[in-house]
Amino acid sequence: MSRLKQITPRCFVFIGNGDDVYHSYGANTGFIVGREACLIVDTGFHLRTADQLLSAVRKHSPKRLYVLSTHYHSDHVFGNLPFTEAGASIIAHENCRRSMLDQSEGLLNKYRKRNKRLAGLLRSVKVSYPSVAFRNNLTLHLDEETTVDIVHPVAVAHTNGDSVAVCREMEQYSQATFSGTGIIQTSKTPGSRARSKHYNGSSRRGLEG
Ligand SMILES: [Zn+2]
Repeated sequence: MSRLKQITPRCFVFIGNGDDVYHSYGANTGFIVGREACLIVDTGFHLRTADQLLSAVRKHSPKRLYVLSTHYHSDHVFGNLPFTEAGASIIAHENCRRSMLDQSEGLLNKYRKRNKRLAGLLRSVKVSYPSVAFRNNLTLHLDEETTVDIVHPVAVAHTNGDSVAVCREMEQYSQATFSGTGIIQTSKTPGSRARSKHYNGSSRRGLEG
């Protein structure tokens, strides 16, 4: 199981552990919770990690839920279903949505056929597709002071449909960047230099799809 870490007053991350397909290749997930709404960044490879993430989110009782799928790879999107069932809107870059529509069902079948352990792990997974797609960028206001800019990098970084989420907490002078493979937290107090901390899962390899 991953451990939950609070990296800013509004940002929480599950740092991925494990290095194989059964542990999502150590993919990170996280969430940013404002007084009005919560953005979950990626949902993991199977429902065990997704349910763990959802119960951590529920402790904050947000009124609305959004999920960002940072790219279409299975270790980042197969856990979407419990969030859709909880009323969340799934957000993704338009190329990520297109890749999921083209490939996710086939990838799910491929993993299930690989062996019994994977078949069991993925038994209850149903692909849940993004209902909100964007082209360049999108801004979410989780409350008056907590803003998340969701940006599609100009250059191809990991896939052609990547999203990066940058959270700004105005009163706290802190910022967290969720990129799908790594999370960076930067804090700055007035008159001082910014300091950064990096949280990388063990996603050296990651799933190819
Ligand atoms: Zn990936």
